[in-house]
Amino acid sequence: MINEAMRLEHVQLGQIRAVAEKAKLLEQQGHDIIHLEIGEPDFTTPENIVQVTQDALSQGNVHYAPNRGVLDLRREIAKKLKVDNDIEVDPDKEVIITSGAAQALLLAFLAHCNPGDEVLVIEPSFLSYNQLAYMTDAVPVPIATSEDKDWIVDPGDIESAITDRTKMVLLNSPNNPTGAVYPKETLERIAEIATEHDLIVVSDEIYEKIIHEESSHFSIGALPGMKERTITINGFSKAYAMTGWRLGYVAASEKLTTPMLKVHQYAVTCVPTFTQYGAIEAIRGDQKHLEAMISAYNKRRDLVYKGLNGIEGITCSLPEGAFYAFLNIKQSGLNSVEFAERLLSEKGVALIPGSIFSSAGEGFLRLSFAASEEQLLSAMKRIEEFVVNINSNVNV
Ligand code: PMP
Repeated sequence: MINEAMRLEHVQLGQIRAVAEKAKLLEQQGHDIIHLEIGEPDFTTPENIVQVTQDALSQGNVHYAPNRGVLDLRREIAKKLKVDNDIEVDPDKEVIITSGAAQALLLAFLAHCNPGDEVLVIEPSFLSYNQLAYMTDAVPVPIATSEDKDWIVDPGDIESAITDRTKMVLLNSPNNPTGAVYPKETLERIAEIATEHDLIVVSDEIYEKIIHEESSHFSIGALPGMKERTITINGFSKAYAMTGWRLGYVAASEKLTTPMLKVHQYAVTCVPTFTQYGAIEAIRGDQKHLEAMISAYNKRRDLVYKGLNGIEGITCSLPEGAFYAFLNIKQSGLNSVEFAERLLSEKGVALIPGSIFSSAGEGFLRLSFAASEEQLLSAMKRIEEFVVNINSNVNV
């Protein structure tokens, strides 16, 4: 009988992709659509990275790499982690190059969760966390955050959710979808709780570099005693506009990394070898492209924050990191799915309903400002027209 495995019973096909496909369809039918739905840099990969990769390919780097990844890349990552994050890892035993942060997350779940283990997911959250928990027979336990606390988790809420089945807590700062950046004190408190209850912390730091001037990123793995229980996940997709390259990594103690390597070696053997040379160049090479991209995101963030808060009936808290604004649309009287569907079909602006990121996201929409200033200005004009129209209908 051809039945999907029982572990997939609660796993859904990607809802963000579904919105993107609907937007694409409308576009093919001739509608003018502004795409602010996907979390993907609108820049292209810097030329120096492309060049080094092409050279690596021409020079014959076309065979298997070690399962953990090309050693020079692991060394470069270890240096980066020391300098940027104050985390010390042995490149021989404590780093694995993965197919994006996405696969790094899968490794963390598959290697460390047993059926029934509880995994604390701070919501609204990146969709994979819950789905990966379902896929590995773990139980996701939601911890809600709220706009009035700037979407920063209250460590007390983590503590009160802990049971004798709790195995892991997932952190994502800078955050998708809210743009929150966790202060060091919050991370310190979470570290104490994780240590006291012997939990693994998975810290997804994929938006580390996309952070606005007034904020700073801090890695929980740098706190005393935390290396042994923290799986730090990062990658090249967002910072270097390399989403299609599928390059990420995990860094953790040997005890945490070895089980992940068991999965990785049988799942993918290794990440494509020549692309890893491009990743070396991303870290080691000139960072001027990265700086230009970050300053463009900063400008767009300010534009979007000001523009959205200028629309009557919409508010938006200041995103400190990543490239998302999380708009409060509660005054519209529509729920987030209705708002998103109508905004797309009536005004051609594709955003993601906050409810798909959890019930804590109801009443909000995620807008990706990884788009040109011109597109963002035009989208905000259309959002304003849409909201005015709803308000006038309500008044009738
Ligand atoms: N974590 C978060 C929070 C993300 O938003 C994304 C991508 N949208 C990923 C992980 C996956 O990134 P990658 O392209 O490296 O797999």
